[in-house]
Amino acid sequence: QARKRFGQNFLHDPGVIERIIRSIHPKADDAIVEIGPGLGAITEEILAVNPKLQVVELDRDLIPVLRTKFFNYPDFHIHEADALKFDFSQLVDEKPLRIIGNLPYNISTPLIFHLLSQSGVVQDMHFMLQKEVVQRMAAVPGDNNYGRLGIMTQYFCKVQPLFEVGPGAFRPAPKVDSAIVRLVPHAELPHPAKDLVTLQAVVRTAFNARRKTLRKALAGLVTVEQLQALGINDGLRPENLSLADYVSIADALTDEKSRAQPGEGSVGDVSGDSHD
Ligand code: SAM
Repeated sequence: QARKRFGQNFLHDPGVIERIIRSIHPKADDAIVEIGPGLGAITEEILAVNPKLQVVELDRDLIPVLRTKFFNYPDFHIHEADALKFDFSQLVDEKPLRIIGNLPYNISTPLIFHLLSQSGVVQDMHFMLQKEVVQRMAAVPGDNNYGRLGIMTQYFCKVQPLFEVGPGAFRPAPKVDSAIVRLVPHAELPHPAKDLVTLQAVVRTAFNARRKTLRKALAGLVTVEQLQALGINDGLRPENLSLADYVSIADALTDEKSRAQPGEGSVGDVSGDSHD
């Protein structure tokens, strides 16, 4: 019996499962971690090539099912935990992690943000998500689903939508279409922000008022003069700005803050306040 509160929709279409495995292309010595193995539809196929697979599952009733089903894999490790709070870096041994999962859709956005914050220890990620969430992740400026999820995902990762999956591949069938996405963390961030928290605040504030002009959406945070000094037209809408634009706004605010509070956060750094 699938549980709604855990976002359980179990894959049962062998063709879809095979296509997912081919996209992941697991190898014997990869450090693979599956989030939400459920009844083990994907797990089983990964274990066949990678017996050291680790999984993170929140529903405690599924743990004995998984243990029984995969008893002949002594190196298979189950973490009974909430992936939203899980510290994935503890699983890193030698190799960066390859994280996979047919994710519970009810928590997919916070889970993605949590995983992005750990992308330093990740080689790549393959996820089944609601199709619309994958579209938001891959959206570019001007798309009407471009927003916080796309900008922050693309800040950390290259986003590759792979293929769509209809509701019939799952039991019970979800009400939405799904899609598989591959996320590959950038070796070097293409647009590193001086302060990530400031970038997140700017992007969140902007898209809280996505229909307004930037001047209005960011009022209180950034002045029209600051936008103009950065060469950003304040009459544009939040959806028209690139990641690089958001980083330049955030960096201007970070610089302004460090001028207002010289030395803040840089105790012992004598050069920090010498030029003000
Ligand atoms: N991988 C299986 C499959 O494809 O058939 C199950 C996918 S089902 C959509 C989502 C799985 O995530 C369920 O097994 C559910 O119990 C588990 N889950 C839900 N919330 C979770 C959380 N916070 N942390 C870890 N696992 C969670």
